[in-house]
Amino acid sequence: MQIKKLRLSGFKSFVDPTELRIEKGLTGVVGPNGCGKSNLLEAIRWVMGENSAKSMRGAGMEDVIFAGTQDRPERQFAEVSLTAERETNDVSSLHVGDNDSELEIVRRIERGSGSAYRANGTDVRAKDIALIFADAATGAHSPALVSQGKISNIISSKPEARREMLEEAAGISGLHVRRRDAEQK
Ligand code: ATP
Ligand code: MG
Repeated sequence: MQIKKLRLSGFKSFVDPTELRIEKGLTGVVGPNGCGKSNLLEAIRWVMGENSAKSMRGAGMEDVIFAGTQDRPERQFAEVSLTAERETNDVSSLHVGDNDSELEIVRRIERGSGSAYRANGTDVRAKDIALIFADAATGAHSPALVSQGKISNIISSKPEARREMLEEAAGISGLHVRRRDAEQK
């Protein structure tokens, strides 16, 4: 799965609609302290299903919505859209819409009413999003997304937590989700 495009609106410091095209190869994001580099990585994790407000450096999930500044009022919603190219060997079982080669995931949160997901224009559950990314061996908890301060966390983490990271990397965490699901039925 190759990320091609990221669109943000009302997400943290990205109050105005912002679109970033991500080309193949290495992409670097540079800028002064506080310009929003970490917010970009958090937007990618959030649209992939991150549900821990703390790991998004907030107290509650609504803290991802633009909170306002001296000259701009707060926003009522935040939306992040991620467009990815699917590779032919992607195993994901969820096929939405008739566009099989491109996948657009949109997550939107509104003040007071929580967040919702769409995949290629169709409403989907958070669980479906988790499965898509788990099958593609990526996602909100992918070891490929290394936040500021994460390296020292990994070094000091317990063996069980380190195994979870390896399972994410190996692309088998989707199987655990399905097993838990089957056991509940
Ligand atoms: P550094 O180089 O120090 O790591 P950075 O480029 O990673 O900086 P970020 O941490 O991504 O910067 O951005 C921090 C900025 O985002 C701060 O100015 C903060 O006020 C702003 N910000 C975070 N959440 C919100 C929000 N909900 N509404 C408005 N602004 C926000
Ligand atoms: Mg940062």
